[in-house]
Amino acid sequence: MRKKVSVVLGGAGFLGSHLVDRLLKEGHRVIAIDNYITGTPKNLRHLRNNPSFKLVKQDVTNYISVPGRVDFVFNFASPASPIDYLQFPIQTLKVGALGTHRALGLAKKKKATFLLASTSEVYGDPLVHPQAEDYWGNVNPIGPRGVYDEAKRFAEAMTMAYHRAHGVDTRIVRIFNTYGPRMRLEDGRVVPAFISQALKGKPLTVFGDGLQTRSFCFVSDLMEGIYRLALSDENDPVNVGNPGEMTVLDFARVILKLTGSRSRIEHEPLPVDDPKVRQPDISRARKHLGWEPRVSLEEGMRVTIDYFKATIRPVRSRVKMF
Ligand code: UDP
Repeated sequence: MRKKVSVVLGGAGFLGSHLVDRLLKEGHRVIAIDNYITGTPKNLRHLRNNPSFKLVKQDVTNYISVPGRVDFVFNFASPASPIDYLQFPIQTLKVGALGTHRALGLAKKKKATFLLASTSEVYGDPLVHPQAEDYWGNVNPIGPRGVYDEAKRFAEAMTMAYHRAHGVDTRIVRIFNTYGPRMRLEDGRVVPAFISQALKGKPLTVFGDGLQTRSFCFVSDLMEGIYRLALSDENDPVNVGNPGEMTVLDFARVILKLTGSRSRIEHEPLPVDDPKVRQPDISRARKHLGWEPRVSLEEGMRVTIDYFKATIRPVRSRVKMF
């Protein structure tokens, strides 16, 4: 049988690179495209001699040209941490809007299945809890987070328009907080922030009173959900995340326990429009994909902490050389 061909936009990022690995494992040929503004080719270094894999440096807001047949287009290109999209607000809007348009154009031309990496941020600071897919959200369009939330909301609208108007076979996954190896140590998200602070003996910076909640999913569970969604016939958005909800303060305590760190907890101001609660309702994923998360927070965090230990160590030894 002919190998399936997948194009992964944002393939050098945290999630994109895990998706590339998963698709290669499933026997696909994979072309990853990334401009490296938040991703890095290091995330794909282990694949450099793999004949089924190709990495192309390109900004996907420009015309995307891929020779030959394509079966799947996965759109994972976007800054995805609050400090990244505050640093790159216009790129974030452009990649969600123009990049998604390009990606849909590619899928249409190739008669490929298109999958959009959307986000729990489409629910904004939610007034409904937990969040099911039929909730329309509570987003501030002009706040600093709006660049990401509105770009993804536009991307969802564009995806549904291509589905309805052009008959493109589309999928939308709404991804909730996900963690695992290959997150950038300095990306500012709570998982790498707390782990690196704990490992370096620095105070853990809890924003606000820390009573805001999040629900953390290990990356391998997320990839399983996304792969199942790609193979399904579900055109409506599907939440994929772990419903295990906890406060940010309790999460800080978990990290202190798992790292054995004696760091203090320090409070810093809460960022503007920081959602007060977040927890996925995964009934749709359970029903249509037969999916639910398998990896416990402790198991997943141990793997992630080991990854961060290994990435912090070389930095220390480099510093010693001077
Ligand atoms: N947060 C925190 N300290 C940090 C980084 C984040 O208390 O050093 C909080 C942040 O305010 C939010 C939660 O942790 O309430 C999750 O933040 P993250 O940046 O990981 O992503 P978000 O879920 O807000 O998109």
